[in-house]
Amino acid sequence: MAMQTVPYIWMNGKIVKWENANIHILTHTLHYGAGVFEGIRCYNTACGPAVFRLKDHMKRLEDSAKLIGMKMPFSVAEMCKATKELIRKNKFKEGYIRPIAYYGYGKMGLGPKGAPTDVAIAIWPWGKYLGEDSVTKGVKCKISKWRRIDSRTVPTTAKVCGYYINSILASEDATASGCDEAILLNTQGNVAEGPGENIFIVKKGVLITPPLSAGILPGITRKSIMQIAKDNKIKVVEKNITPADLYKSDEAFFTGTAAEVTPISVIDGKKIGIGRRGPITEKLQTIFYDLIKGKEKKYLLWLDFV
Ligand code: PMP
Repeated sequence: MAMQTVPYIWMNGKIVKWENANIHILTHTLHYGAGVFEGIRCYNTACGPAVFRLKDHMKRLEDSAKLIGMKMPFSVAEMCKATKELIRKNKFKEGYIRPIAYYGYGKMGLGPKGAPTDVAIAIWPWGKYLGEDSVTKGVKCKISKWRRIDSRTVPTTAKVCGYYINSILASEDATASGCDEAILLNTQGNVAEGPGENIFIVKKGVLITPPLSAGILPGITRKSIMQIAKDNKIKVVEKNITPADLYKSDEAFFTGTAAEVTPISVIDGKKIGIGRRGPITEKLQTIFYDLIKGKEKKYLLWLDFV
């Protein structure tokens, strides 16, 4: 399926036509993976398009760059402004936003010094990441044979291009086994996250999620769901989760910009709770889907209206 396009992409401060947003084959990051990126969503609300936690995403991009020693040529404020300009220019209503900072063309060999740091922002329409049905029915998962990259090897809190080979291997392995998504354990054998999602379980009414020390990406949806849970008097605990805890959980779900809040119905052939979206998942998911549409006054500050 070909991707849906829009007329324009932002590259290094300029708006260029979608079909002209090209790079050289000797782009440094293409070879060695030292680039950082973000995934952000824009939602169509009654007050027009709004970007969910735009500044937090651009700040994480800056943090990711810092962790790999890359100097961002644009500030967080400039990146936010550019994103909103691009949305307006494309008359865009709703979809996905992909900022990326990478070492460009000019030098080969591992050391990036001598290669420019280039930055781009692309946007395109994108629906439910794990399928339209996934929101209520949930997804079937498999604990991957691939372990999540380890924080002693790379700074795991950064969102780095090259890291995603780990995610690709896990997802491909899961779909090849007839599952919708993978769950990765860390090298200690505890649950880490999905290939592009954080994970939560519910046990006896308590919401449990692995701590950042499990080597996960500090998800912005994760943080938002934890806040929503606390605001609704649902107890939240960050602690290590074993595969056995997962199998025995009452409910489980993924969070992420692409996946939003997606229930998990089955793991390794074992039904989780009732085998579809559970009541606490539904409650959190409903608030989340309302708030991104601008229908929850309390969380309006998380929306950046274009
Ligand atoms: N973990 C990984 C590995 C991811 O790629 C993502 C998506 N950025 C997430 C978790 C979820 O993060 P967020 O909620 O900020 O999209």
